[in-house]
Amino acid sequence: MSLIVQKFGGSSVADPERIKIVADRVAETLRAGHQVLVVLSALGGTTDKLITLSKEITDNPSDREMDMLLSTGEQISISLLSMALHELGIEAISLTGAQVGIITDSSHTKARIKEISGGTIQKELDQGKVVVVAGFQGIDLSNNITTLGRGGSDLTAVALASVLKADQCEIYTDVDGIYTADPRVVADARKLELISHDEMLELASLGANVMNARSVEFAKKFGVTIHVRSSFNQKDGTLITEEAEKMEDAVIRGVTKNTEESKVTILHVPDTPGVAAKVFKILADVNANIDMIIQNVSEKGKTDISFTVINSDFAKVQKVLEELCTEVGADSVEYDQNIAKISVVGIGMKSHSGVAAKMFEVLAHESINIKMISTSEIKISCVIAKDQADKAVRVLHEEFDLAKELIPE
Ligand code: ASP
Ligand code: MG
Repeated sequence: MSLIVQKFGGSSVADPERIKIVADRVAETLRAGHQVLVVLSALGGTTDKLITLSKEITDNPSDREMDMLLSTGEQISISLLSMALHELGIEAISLTGAQVGIITDSSHTKARIKEISGGTIQKELDQGKVVVVAGFQGIDLSNNITTLGRGGSDLTAVALASVLKADQCEIYTDVDGIYTADPRVVADARKLELISHDEMLELASLGANVMNARSVEFAKKFGVTIHVRSSFNQKDGTLITEEAEKMEDAVIRGVTKNTEESKVTILHVPDTPGVAAKVFKILADVNANIDMIIQNVSEKGKTDISFTVINSDFAKVQKVLEELCTEVGADSVEYDQNIAKISVVGIGMKSHSGVAAKMFEVLAHESINIKMISTSEIKISCVIAKDQADKAVRVLHEEFDLAKELIPE
């Protein structure tokens, strides 16, 4: 008998009606002769509400208590789904992360999984039950409840699929799969049938908010194929899988925009060894999430350093840079919050040349100015003005022919 892991996100279990629909979907999978392990997120919006609630008590809650609070969201959904399954005459049991032995380190609110003992789950499955596990949570070696970071239920699902050697790992969400671009921006964006883990990782971190990035990293490391699909219809979604040769036929798999970063430039920094180290050490010390870094050619012993920072860290970066300017002898700092990062992603880039040139040409043709560029083996990103972002995504999608099915996937 094959084992299928089915993870349902917050919007798929947003209210009692949706929970009953999930129960029907699980029942259908059972009828097809499979064992089912369900992993759930909290009811849509619950985690945000819990965070808001904590803020009404304090601006500075203890991370341990935050985890205690946030982990309750998933306990609500798993118990309700088990009840809904019971109503259908199906044997089901809900279990928390601690109960199934998801052992993590002690870094509260972003804990890493150290070990999972799948024994409890296996025992229940073998007794013919559907096991419904709370996503996003674990327990550390001192019995403290931990959580795995926002969107962490995906990680729970992928990790359990790996440990229990599941035959399939399905991630149910409210979109039909992974698209060549955001369908709200590009009318003829196409749903991909197949995408490699690496491409998905780039897309996950570039602002295609469908999958949690750490879960994709985990899936790559342990060779788990993920099927991302909608719980609102029966259509097949997108398979996130190991890289296969034919995938390289498509030069570009997708275009994304990220409007959640700002550009920072430190002007006239002394061009001497150790200055960049000092700047980025200070930024690292305040845990700022920094991305593209560019240092200009130096002139008269001075240079400019630019980088992008995630907007949620902008205020604290601004604060530390004021002091830093005097400390390292820089002139001033410039900020640009009206930027967007546009990226094209595809493993086909490894074997096709001229992709960067084409991207820059397309942007130039539309009179879109490029402020920063960065590349990896399978990605090219350009920072441009925010109000030109949608246009850039549309023309790149068009010029790289993404609406067209290139390969019989
Ligand atoms: N409920 C958690 C969150 O909203 C975990 C998840 O949904 O995966 O981040
Ligand atoms: Mg979620």
